[in-house]
Parts: sequence; C-alpha cells; structure tokens
Amino acid sequence: METIAAVATSSTSTRNACKLCAPLGASVVFKGIKNCLPVIHGAQGCATYIRRYMISHYKEPVDIASTNFSEATTIFGGTKNLNSAIDNIISQYHPEVIGIASACLSETIGEDIPMMIRDYQKTKEGQPLPVFVHASTPSYDGSHIDGFHEAVMATVASLAESKHADSRLINIFPGFISPEDIRHLKEILFGFGLDYILFPDYSDTLDNPIWLEYQVIPKGGTSIEDLRRTGSSRASIEFGYVLNKGKMKNHSSSKATTAAGWLHQNFNIPVKRLGLPIGIKETDRFFKVLEELSGKKTPESQARLRGRLIDAYVDGHKYLFGKRAIVFGEEDLVIGIVSLLEEIGIETVLVASGGESGLLKKEIERITGDKSKNMMAINGMDFETINEMAEELRPDIMIGNSKGYYIARRLGIPLIRMGFPIHDRIGGQRVLHLCYEGTLRLFDQITNGLIEYKQEHSPVGYKYI
Ligand code: SF4
Repeated sequence: METIAAVATSSTSTRNACKLCAPLGASVVFKGIKNCLPVIHGAQGCATYIRRYMISHYKEPVDIASTNFSEATTIFGGTKNLNSAIDNIISQYHPEVIGIASACLSETIGEDIPMMIRDYQKTKEGQPLPVFVHASTPSYDGSHIDGFHEAVMATVASLAESKHADSRLINIFPGFISPEDIRHLKEILFGFGLDYILFPDYSDTLDNPIWLEYQVIPKGGTSIEDLRRTGSSRASIEFGYVLNKGKMKNHSSSKATTAAGWLHQNFNIPVKRLGLPIGIKETDRFFKVLEELSGKKTPESQARLRGRLIDAYVDGHKYLFGKRAIVFGEEDLVIGIVSLLEEIGIETVLVASGGESGLLKKEIERITGDKSKNMMAINGMDFETINEMAEELRPDIMIGNSKGYYIARRLGIPLIRMGFPIHDRIGGQRVLHLCYEGTLRLFDQITNGLIEYKQEHSPVGYKYI
C-alpha cells in the first residue's frame, strides 16, 4: 500500500485534473435563478469551455456571456468590457438578474467588480436595471465546487432580507446535484407539507421540456422574491460536510463561507448541516430532520421505498460482497457514495477527489467508522494518478463521472456514471442520486454493472442469475 501511496504524491504537476473551473460552478448556480443570465468576467475561453461542458452534460442550449478579455484589457482593466457586456445583455436578454463570475485573469489583475457595478449603476441612474450578483471565482483559488458555494452565498447575501419572520418557511441549499435530484427533493418536501425555498433550482432551466420557440433565458429557477425571503426562514438545511472548506483553508477569515452559514451569522437562522442523502443512513438523517421541521411522520410512500431498498440490498448482496471499487469526484458526492458502498458490502479501495480540503479521509472515517481504515482517501488527485494507482489496486468497478472512462476502459471494468460531467451518455441531467429512490437506482446500476461484467466474461454464458 505504501508504494501506491507514493504514486499519489510523486508528481508535482496536475495531469488531467479531477476537478473543474470555479466559474463553472458559479454559472450552474446562476442558471438556477429565475430570469438570470450568467456572465464571466475574463477571457473568452473560460465561457466557451464552460458552455461546452454544460451543453454536453445537460443537453440543453446554455447561454453564458463573456467580457472577452484581450491583451489590452488585461493591462488597462476590464471596466469598458464589463459595461458593454451588461449593456448588450440587458438589450438582448432583458434579465431580472445578471450573475457575474470573475475568472482567473480579472482576479489576477485585481479588478474591483463591486465598485465597477456601483459605477455602472450610477451612470444609469433613474433607469430600471437588473439585480447584480457577483461571485469571486478564480480557479487558482478553488474548484467548481468552491465556485458553486461561493455563488450560492453571494446570491443569498445580496438579496436576503429579514422583514417578516415566517415560522413555516425553511431554506434548502442542496449543493451541486442533478436536475432530477432537485425535482425529487421538491416532491419529498411537498410530501412533508413544508413551505420551502430551494436554491439553486436549475431543475427546469437545465432540463427543459421541448420548446416550440427558442427561449433566450429558459423558464424556471428560484425567484428573486423567494431569495429575499430566505432571510425570514425558521431554519436552513445545507447538504455537505466538506462544502467549500478546501478553498477557505487558504483564507483566515472567520466570515461565513456558505449561504446557510451567512444566514445564521446575519439573521440567526439555525443550520441543519447534513451529508448528501445517499444510502440509507444518510437519507434517514435527512428524513429525521424533515420530520422535526414539519412535525409530521415520513410519508408512507417514502417508508415503503425505504423498505424496498433494504429488500434490494438483500437481493443483491451476493453479487456485491467483497467487490473492490474506486470512487472519484467531488468531495461531498464521494463521501455519500462511500457511505452507500459500506452499506452494501463493496470495499472502497480508493476514493479520490480533486478537492483540496484535506478533510476527505476524516469525514469518511466519521461517517463509516473504522470500516474505512484500509481505504485510501486522497485529496488533490488527478486522473493520471488514479490511473497509475488502479494498476495495483485491482478494482472490480469504478464509480464517478465520465472523465474516468479511459481508465475503466483500460482496466476492462465497468464505470458507473454519476455526478458531473457525463459527456458520453445521454441523461446525465436525469441521474437520480438522492434519498431512497436515488439510492435504489444507483444500487441497481452498480449491481447490474457487475453482473453484466461477469456475464460478458463468462466462458459459457448464462441467461438466469
Ligand atoms: S483556469 Fe481560469 S482562465 Fe483557465 S478556463 Fe478556468 S477560469 Fe478560465
């Protein structure tokens, strides 16, 4: 095991990063605001690459503006470019909100974007203007997950008001999940009869029904009115044990770093912080909180789903027990997946993330107890290192996004696709990961992936199991 661990720390360069750029996370959040257009303050390539990734995964048109930095802008500053980008966006898109994510170049030259926005507003005094939200998202200071949480907090901090305390209302900040996950969460919250604000809600904007006419800004998203009401809620639920702590360890500030933390710090709204509800244990925790907040028991339909899930665990156990898995992706997502694998008897031999929190191992140990003692959980990983380590680890299955496909292909083992991005299949936006239903679907995928592998490699073949 020591030789494998040495591989993980042997390279000084990142080779095929196991993370994405920070403004990508912010752009996903801005797509979850009603009638909002994201703009990236930086070079053209940032917006192009992010659009390319999002279009490929969500299979939807994705408009993201760019302030299009050139050599001159880099030297003399981007005020003119930002002003003209805002003018163009207003005249072409008529948004209610413009979400500005600053990329590496504008951050490196120290652009004061809040001041630039104020100056722009002064020049347009008396004219109706959209709301501006700015998230500081240089990729040298964090991953797409850090950019995501930064944008969620920046939006809430810009808009939340504490005018009319509402004893029935709760906030839910679920993190970077799929549109299908968001729809499922909304059904569950409805089932508990809760009045809630879920943010960001890109369940429609990034997974639309068919259009008869092109919509420049797709319908859907959390409204400004609801974002204002987040300051009046009785509690916030936030999914994630790691969140953006990877970025924040480089900053000595005691300020809040997430939306729920910000609302607690500024409006004293209690926070219920939970892991992503994947697997029975983590989903039970979520449902317990919903029971507390709603004063209602878990609906019968969900209780039956839980029972069905346990039944599936029993049915599938003989195909899974003792199998070895490599899991990779965002820290909070892989923590949820490892929690599931521990429940179903798959041994996780390596859990890898490009996130830099340094908390991955500790959080997994906290969730799974001493079961994780032989597992390697490594932060700051890239795909080439996973590739090299996989040789010796001899996994039976890989679980993660499609960027790991080339490793699974080389090893000749199944890759169960989940998370973001999924570039080589359709339906990435419809992968359900969360709660009893999502766990059941993941369980079936994992079990059938292993059964199919065995069947394909059987010398005689068989039709029944
Ligand atoms: S690393 Fe920075 S400059 Fe490069 S694409 Fe990402 S955000 Fe843009």
